[in-house]
Amino acid sequence: MADNKIMVTKSSMPEFDEYVEMIRPLWDTHWLTNFGDYYKRLEKELKQYLGVPQISLMVNGHMALELAIQAMGFPEGGEIITTPFTFISTTHAIIRNKLVPVFCDIKLSDYTIDENKIEDLITEKTVAILPVHVYGNICNIHKIQEIADKYNIKVIYDAAHAFAQTLDGIGVGNFGDISIFSFHATKIYNTIEGGAVVFKEESFYRKLHDLKNFGIRSETVVAEIGANAKLNEFSAAMGLCNLKAVEKNIYEREKRVRYYIQKLEEIEEIKLCKFDLENTTYSFGYFPILFRQELCADGIRDKVYDKLRENNIYSRKYFYPITADEACFKNKYKKVALENARYAGNNVLVLPLYPELEYETINEIVEIITKCIDSETCTYMA
Ligand SMILES: *Cc1c(COP(=O)(O)O)cnc(C)c1O
Repeated sequence: MADNKIMVTKSSMPEFDEYVEMIRPLWDTHWLTNFGDYYKRLEKELKQYLGVPQISLMVNGHMALELAIQAMGFPEGGEIITTPFTFISTTHAIIRNKLVPVFCDIKLSDYTIDENKIEDLITEKTVAILPVHVYGNICNIHKIQEIADKYNIKVIYDAAHAFAQTLDGIGVGNFGDISIFSFHATKIYNTIEGGAVVFKEESFYRKLHDLKNFGIRSETVVAEIGANAKLNEFSAAMGLCNLKAVEKNIYEREKRVRYYIQKLEEIEEIKLCKFDLENTTYSFGYFPILFRQELCADGIRDKVYDKLRENNIYSRKYFYPITADEACFKNKYKKVALENARYAGNNVLVLPLYPELEYETINEIVEIITKCIDSETCTYMA
């Protein structure tokens, strides 16, 4: 049994001395936030690394999404077609902008929005589609763009799970009108808290700058009703350090994912994300497994979750419940059949994954899963 808690992830950090060297100059300048040198440098480095035309750094991924939506200037009450199989932030960002989420079911093949079900949900109030590249599975961007063009609506991607990924050699942030990334401590790449909006349209830069800084244009002019969503210098410094290690981290993550796959792929009761599309590069932020309900004992996902916990291993039920069923807005929005999303919500378990994860721990996790599946009731003694 593991002595220490194994969490689903472990935040990447640079060497202590490296970070200290980085932040030391801040004690000379006393410039801690408000678009400092590190902020500017990180914006430049990330723009290049992600291969995107424009970027605007934010205090976190949620505010990146909220302000990205606000920057589009949709009329109040406009409908946004989105996935319920995501972190709650995606749905909140729509509603907090006085817009209406219209949930669309997902595909069980990769858990992204079912592009073939989008068109049926379009009404004259539809202003945008907001899909999520969930677990780093890139949505069907071609079909989604085709629909958006046909109805003249916008596409905003929540790319929080797809940092650094590419499709056909193109950075994932280039698709749609706008994408957002999260640099939260638990993500592949972190600035402690942080995020970014990436886009093509040059005028968004000024707009987003206003929205993240109270709309202040000069000492005497406030041009917009903005919020405060600036990334501070300590976070930017962390981001600059962590960016140097991100390729290595992704490499280490991939090795663990391949190991998990090799250990689990023969088990009929489980469906894996294989992360093997030829035209796609992955960052391996998450390792989700789905228990095929029809082949397993009742409640197997929850039993495995509990059993892992008993052994100090903390997997996560991402995303249960699906956001459409969350207490805060259950039954408030248009009812749509969300069978696949609920099935995934009830049966997916995200297993621990991070660069330092021991292979021995993976063996232990696999053993617990296998025993649970074999024992029907999952009441074996560990
Ligand atoms: C993490 C995450 C967010 C929010 O990002 P924060 O940086 O935590 O605010 C939004 N959407 C998805 C899908 C996420 O995983």
